[in-house]
Amino acid sequence: MKILVLNSGSSSIKYQLFEKPENKVLLSGIIERIGEENSQVSHKFHNEDGTYKKLEIQEPISDHEKGLKQIVSLQMDPEYGAIDSADEIVAVGHRVVHGGEEFSTPTLINEAVLQKLHKLSYLAPLHNPHNLKGIEVATKIFKGASQVAVFDTSFHQTMPKHAYRFPIPESFYLEHGLRAFGFHGTSHQFVSQQAASYLGIPIDHFNTITIHLGNGCSMAAIQGGKCVDTSMGLTPLGGLMMGTRSGDIDPSLILFLAQNLSMSVSEIDRLLNKESGLKGLTGDNDLRNILLRYEKGDSAAELAIEMYVYRIRKYVGAYAAILGRLDALIFTAGVGENSSFIREKVCENLNILGVELDEGLNNEKTSGIKEIQSQGASTRVMIVPTNEELQIVNQVFDLIGD
Ligand code: ADP
Repeated sequence: MKILVLNSGSSSIKYQLFEKPENKVLLSGIIERIGEENSQVSHKFHNEDGTYKKLEIQEPISDHEKGLKQIVSLQMDPEYGAIDSADEIVAVGHRVVHGGEEFSTPTLINEAVLQKLHKLSYLAPLHNPHNLKGIEVATKIFKGASQVAVFDTSFHQTMPKHAYRFPIPESFYLEHGLRAFGFHGTSHQFVSQQAASYLGIPIDHFNTITIHLGNGCSMAAIQGGKCVDTSMGLTPLGGLMMGTRSGDIDPSLILFLAQNLSMSVSEIDRLLNKESGLKGLTGDNDLRNILLRYEKGDSAAELAIEMYVYRIRKYVGAYAAILGRLDALIFTAGVGENSSFIREKVCENLNILGVELDEGLNNEKTSGIKEIQSQGASTRVMIVPTNEELQIVNQVFDLIGD
């Protein structure tokens, strides 16, 4: 059975075509700069042996509908495609950033669901409208396929009230739905399940802290396989310091910027979402470049790395206190999977939590799941590569069965 996974952003569409139940990736790719003159299509045909043939196309793609049509024609290409007709695609799994309180599981999309999702867009105005556009276009093109929404927020819906409510009058929650939701849920769920199954621990007995460090960064406290707290909040701005986002700040900073510096709401929004975090402190949001500068003694890079790590460590301490028993600390995503230096700094002097790294294992380059704690350490430290597309396709498959 062929299932297509789509991730529609504001100016890009990422896609992967899977064969289920084998979990084979047949095709994958990304269309970038939709709406601009220099749109770029990067498409891969995956061979059986893990290698792939790549096709790059530069041509203007004016909107998501044209982008998706391009994806369909690439899927049917005699040399780079894997299907003869769009009807072969049984289901399309869509990444949707915000599912609000309403959607705590992957959901088959129909007109009523679509209406509800449109209503939720006020909670994620930067993301949801583009995700919904992808759904609308895919529904027109893949007429016979089931369309399924998989939400970034769903996994965090098990958080207790005392974790997700804000200490402000209840009416803001009841009338406007203002609460913490959390994001990157697909990734936190995927890596925690992968780790539990790798270790042979039943998921409902597995306590872990997952640390997702990509451009966006978030952590989750997971007790018995269920999320009990997470660092992002109402939007993906809260929590850890990130590539361009500030993460946690004293909320009165916003009042100060408005009152004393006369900054508008959109200027503050831009400052905190796009011009803060690593970028705000160093002018660069790519941690690889910042680490190179750090090695040369660049003081801005040093402060940025110290703050980045310090904030992760504060959450590790907080989440360990919440969980009581910690089986594993899990690192994932671009930084978490690749930077032995950041992992080392996060785990430094954490013996109080039974965390002790094996330097050799931490520095050794391998792919796949790996334990990197030293022998005899009571808490495991793990690198678990995330794969949000695979998690989405698995959830779609579980929902529609065969
Ligand atoms: P996204 O959130 O866009 O999916 P990724 O998970 O791909 O992001 O992570 C991107 C981040 O990972 C970038 O900041 C990049 O610098 C960082 N990264 C990738 N490889 C390394 C590495 N070897 N060392 C340090 N950071 C890395």
